[in-house]
Amino acid sequence: MGQSQRHILYAFIRHAGLPVLVGLGYFVISYATISLKTTNGMVAPVWIANAFLLALVLARPARQAPALIMAGMVANVLSGLPAGNNLQTALVYGFANGLEIAVAVAGLKLHRNGAHAFSDPEALPHVLIWAGLVGPACGAFLGGLGAWANNAHPLSEAYARWFLADALGLLIFTPVFLAMFNGEMKRSLASQTRQRRLEVAALLALTAGAAGVAFFSTESSHLLLVVPPMLLVLLRSGWMATKIALAIVTVIGGAAMMGGYGPPVMHSHHAAHHLYGIQMFIALLIVVQVPISAMLASRQAMIERMRQNEQSLNLLASASPVLLLAFNLEGVCTRVVGTRELLLDRPFDALVGAELSDISEEGQYDLTRAHSAALEDVSTSQIAEFRTLKLRDAWMEATFRAHFDERGRCIGTIATVQDITQRKKQELWLSRTATTDSLTGLLNRAGFHQRLEQALVKATPGTLSLAVIDIDRFKLINDNSGHQMGDTVLREIACRISSQVRASDAVGRMGGDEFVVLLATSNWDRVQEICGRIVSAVSSEPIALPSGNSLRAAISCGVVRYRQGQSAEDFIHEADIALYQAKRGGRNRVVAA
Ligand code: GH3
Ligand code: MG
Repeated sequence: MGQSQRHILYAFIRHAGLPVLVGLGYFVISYATISLKTTNGMVAPVWIANAFLLALVLARPARQAPALIMAGMVANVLSGLPAGNNLQTALVYGFANGLEIAVAVAGLKLHRNGAHAFSDPEALPHVLIWAGLVGPACGAFLGGLGAWANNAHPLSEAYARWFLADALGLLIFTPVFLAMFNGEMKRSLASQTRQRRLEVAALLALTAGAAGVAFFSTESSHLLLVVPPMLLVLLRSGWMATKIALAIVTVIGGAAMMGGYGPPVMHSHHAAHHLYGIQMFIALLIVVQVPISAMLASRQAMIERMRQNEQSLNLLASASPVLLLAFNLEGVCTRVVGTRELLLDRPFDALVGAELSDISEEGQYDLTRAHSAALEDVSTSQIAEFRTLKLRDAWMEATFRAHFDERGRCIGTIATVQDITQRKKQELWLSRTATTDSLTGLLNRAGFHQRLEQALVKATPGTLSLAVIDIDRFKLINDNSGHQMGDTVLREIACRISSQVRASDAVGRMGGDEFVVLLATSNWDRVQEICGRIVSAVSSEPIALPSGNSLRAAISCGVVRYRQGQSAEDFIHEADIALYQAKRGGRNRVVAA
């Protein structure tokens, strides 16, 4: 074979290989079914070849559909000829089958789940309409005419035969073929444990056994034997196994009928009645089993979806530092998602049913306020910061938002709770550095003003005194010993001032060599005495320097009492004047005004 011939052959296999294979498969099934015809003119009760073709067309891309349907039609015509059909009749049958498949495919593809229609329980009505009704009806219309013309059957009987055989064939066998072609059966088998697979196999064998007994028996009541194993398959093994069980029962029932066996209820002297008997029984099985099975499968799928949703929610929550709490309108916790229960006073489970006050005793007022405010103004988020009893150092933040049900009614709040300890520490550090003098560690000007304003809010005359202190001749110290030594002196004097007052008194450095002390004492004599002690604490002892030397320093102090209605500025200004007098008076002294 030359190179170019080989190319042509490969191209042919690539493009025509599948249709040819499909045609062959169709031919085999079709020919086998036709040749089952018994001597008394009995034909097979179900037509399986079209299910094979429909499944393939659905499993393959849409553009291949015309070629595949055409291949099936040709195979249908060819398989009819050896059975004794004349060419005309064979052609009519071929067209009828092609039309049936084309209509069923078109109808199923209209549905958004076209290709999955047979495996999606929710698409069941669609499948029943297109593969169980409209498709076979179209085929039956044309095929019945052919059969009637050929066999001189009454027209209605020819229609009914075709319709029932094709509808049953499509409904029962398409799902099984389709599951084989699109890999669903393989996947379903692979996803089961060995034990489950054995169980499914055993139940299917039981169904086959029961069908054997029922259809080969001469006792009509034995037909009911098929029902229990089918129900078992339905309940234990699911949707896929139910489809297979139906196919098994149909094949066994059909074989028994063709062999002339079967219970009397299906027997009749009239072959057509016999045929209807078995068809009706199988149709009844479909009517009973398939909807229940579909319903169970869709419920199972829904449960599985919900389980997965719940699982992913929990996974997300466990990886997240956020705890979600749902509260009803009364502020009772109804749901908890997350894992940060360690931070809360109550264990995780006990949170459901807990009230806002149970979340944090200390923060309950703030939490309740935020919850109520979120309910009142549903478009806002409300924040509450709180600490828990369990971890006193930990700060939590709860952000409340109104929570609505699916009808849009407000049913409570959702609080996202997170640990904000780090942020709080940072805020604290920032506010501390903003109010602290970095050289001495005392309050800086801003910090001291803050304290002074706070104190003035509740001060009554005479209960508060302010001392302003300035180092004497500090320029000289700087000049003689250097700026660094000057800093050491500033720090040492800050220490000596602080050591003379209570921790509750505010001591600050206003800048340069000027210090301030706010004394919360109503005893004026005592205030003057403290100021005297501060002045002598500085001058009495020389200050040791890192160089090993030491130097003597002194300070001057002006101190005044708070008078009703004074502003902070006036208060400081008055103390400044007293200080100026101390300087003028010779320094190293206190002037109390
Ligand atoms: P007086 O007795 O009148 O207060 O004389 P004095 O030399 O102390 O004069 P004044 O209080 O006006 O001078 C303050 C000096 O403090 C001026 C400046 O050189 C110095 N100074 C200001 N801030 C610092 C500082 O942070 N470190 C050091 N080492 N010196 C400072
Ligand atoms: Mg000075």
